[in-house]
Amino acid sequence: MLPFPPIPHFFHTMADDHIRLYIPGPVEVSEKSYRAMSRPMIGHRSGDFAALYDSIQPRLQTLFGTTQPVFLSTSSAWGAMEASLRNLVAKKVLTCCNGAFSDKWYDVALSCGKQAEALQYEWGEPVLPADIDAKLSTGEFDAVTLIHNETSTGVMSPIGEIAAVLRKYPDVLLIVDSVSSFSATPIPMDELGIDVLLTGSQKALALPPGLALFAASEAAMERAASIPDRGYYFDFVEFRKNADKSNTPSTPCISLIYGLQSKLDDIFEEGIEARHARHSKLNAMVSDWVERNGFEHFAPEGYRSVTLVCAKNNRAIDLAAFNAILKKKHHLMINAGYGKIKGLTFRISNMGDETEETIAKMLAALDSALAELG
Ligand SMILES: *Cc1c(COP(=O)(O)O)cnc(C)c1O
Repeated sequence: MLPFPPIPHFFHTMADDHIRLYIPGPVEVSEKSYRAMSRPMIGHRSGDFAALYDSIQPRLQTLFGTTQPVFLSTSSAWGAMEASLRNLVAKKVLTCCNGAFSDKWYDVALSCGKQAEALQYEWGEPVLPADIDAKLSTGEFDAVTLIHNETSTGVMSPIGEIAAVLRKYPDVLLIVDSVSSFSATPIPMDELGIDVLLTGSQKALALPPGLALFAASEAAMERAASIPDRGYYFDFVEFRKNADKSNTPSTPCISLIYGLQSKLDDIFEEGIEARHARHSKLNAMVSDWVERNGFEHFAPEGYRSVTLVCAKNNRAIDLAAFNAILKKKHHLMINAGYGKIKGLTFRISNMGDETEETIAKMLAALDSALAELG
């Protein structure tokens, strides 16, 4: 039962004819999440907020695989990505670049006035541990940025092996973006020795955009405390001080946090392992469709994402027309490529709350639209 009467326009939004998003973020948000988000407002310095905060911390820590507090940042993921650079890079950061988001992280480092070097790969290639090892052995670096799941190319880099290399360099902090893989596949932060693990709300967590989540190791917190000019809004030390009082430095996106609370209920009801298995299974369904229809994978085998498929448009279909049919007749959308591989690739997401049934329906729609395209 809702604590308040339903809002009429809200149900209109949820009508069956809305466009279901199979783009790799934002993704479909459940009616349950929207309902949770439409709870009446509370004061963020009130006991009610502290109770909300405390109700989600233990489960967030379990999901992150950490004993550290999980900070809630009212920003998209880029806020936490930029914050990690500003709080942790004193000497020079090695940015692992193999797609749109990771390439941009290098530019952001420079724009924050940090010394940075890009470990550059072709788009579609994974980041490899041996290359990082070679770079770190120079002793030039005190931080590494890694995008675990490059959403622009569908490449998932071997986080376990990369983290193992970083453990050889205790003075080098490992900053990991798990925006499109968080909670879909295991990334045990403390066990791997990850110094910052960050994610955002609108991709793997299937919430609306506007909330970033991150946790920082003791080493990261010590580094942050020694860095001048961290600013205020994204200061790790401020986040920690406030976390100790079950709070955030500035007014947080309370509605989204209610959504997160509800999402955590979903995740723990399903079970984390079952959630991981579901993502693998659904991803395999999409993969099969791609192969069955004569498309090739953009990412090499062994390094493919479990939350989306990025396919080469090797049949040179008219992706704009394809998506137009999908939207008009089937009320759904996929993505027609990102950045410099727009039109050359297309991406289909299986993030969030998708089920075998919804993925099967979506794939049937793709079949129908492909046939119509001729
Ligand atoms: C979408 C995405 C981002 C950026 O997220 P914003 O919410 O737009 O800040 C960063 N990293 C990855 C891997 C992403 O998929």
